[in-house]
Amino acid sequence: MTRQLQGKVAVVTGSTSGIGQAIVEVFAREGASIMLNGFGDAGAIESQRARLEKLAGAKVIYDPADMTKPAEIEAMIQRAARELGGIDILVNNAGIQHVAPIDEFPPERWDAVIAINLSSAFHTTRHALPIMKKKRWGRIINIASAHGLVASPNKSAYVASKHGIIGLTKATAVEVAEHGIRCNSICPGFVHTPLVEKQIVDRAAENNVSREESIRNIILAPQPTKEFVTIEQIAGTALFLCSPAADQITGAQFSVDGGWTAR
Ligand code: NAD
Repeated sequence: MTRQLQGKVAVVTGSTSGIGQAIVEVFAREGASIMLNGFGDAGAIESQRARLEKLAGAKVIYDPADMTKPAEIEAMIQRAARELGGIDILVNNAGIQHVAPIDEFPPERWDAVIAINLSSAFHTTRHALPIMKKKRWGRIINIASAHGLVASPNKSAYVASKHGIIGLTKATAVEVAEHGIRCNSICPGFVHTPLVEKQIVDRAAENNVSREESIRNIILAPQPTKEFVTIEQIAGTALFLCSPAADQITGAQFSVDGGWTAR
């Protein structure tokens, strides 16, 4: 049986944890060659890499490029093209959060959030486009957020970065539409990953409530289903955006947010 991504090469930033990890899992199951990226324990990353390579039946490599460093991002993209034979799919997923009121927001945290959540996608995209243009096929998926469409208090850098990446998605889509390249954003609501676990714990402590109350009444307050989105649901959306059914979808935002932005 032919698998959907057999013969395709995918670069997924921040794929050593959470949403990115689920995306590479689905891509490997569909036979893609993969460039893994992100931080973490070296042994755990190597066993993830080896397991995915077996699952994919195709080459899977890891690059530790730091998404705050443009030169490392360029080297990672060139390495993917050289060692995996091009780049067909780019998922800009690496991201961080910092929660503080604007007048107390540390400027260095602002710079880090903008660099990782937004500028890194500009750098990966600018280096990947010439490679995709040669094949006249490419799929770029930017992992934005419900916070790319609406705001919450105390998340200024995150909200600005995610609104920014939706802008970058539209700009990329219209610029390369005639080259067979599509660019879309996925806007998850709350997904239970390490990034959100920290917020659950912090909000429980700040408000002196239990973990369960922190989840239901604070974290999931804006999400009408009162259920977390799963990493597999985001990965499934990413796979759909690489399928022929999505060939005429570009510059769009896909909300997978339990109804958050329908309010
Ligand atoms: P996570 O913390 O589980 O994973 C983040 C990944 O990014 C990790 O692999 C980490 O090593 C990597 N990373 C962080 N800084 C990096 C850097 N400087 N260079 C390279 N890699 C770096 O988080 P997640 O929840 O899976 O988030 C993934 C994406 O989804 C982010 O862009 C996040 O904003 C977005 N998102 C998450 C949620 C949610 O509720 N979890 C909701 C909406 C959007």
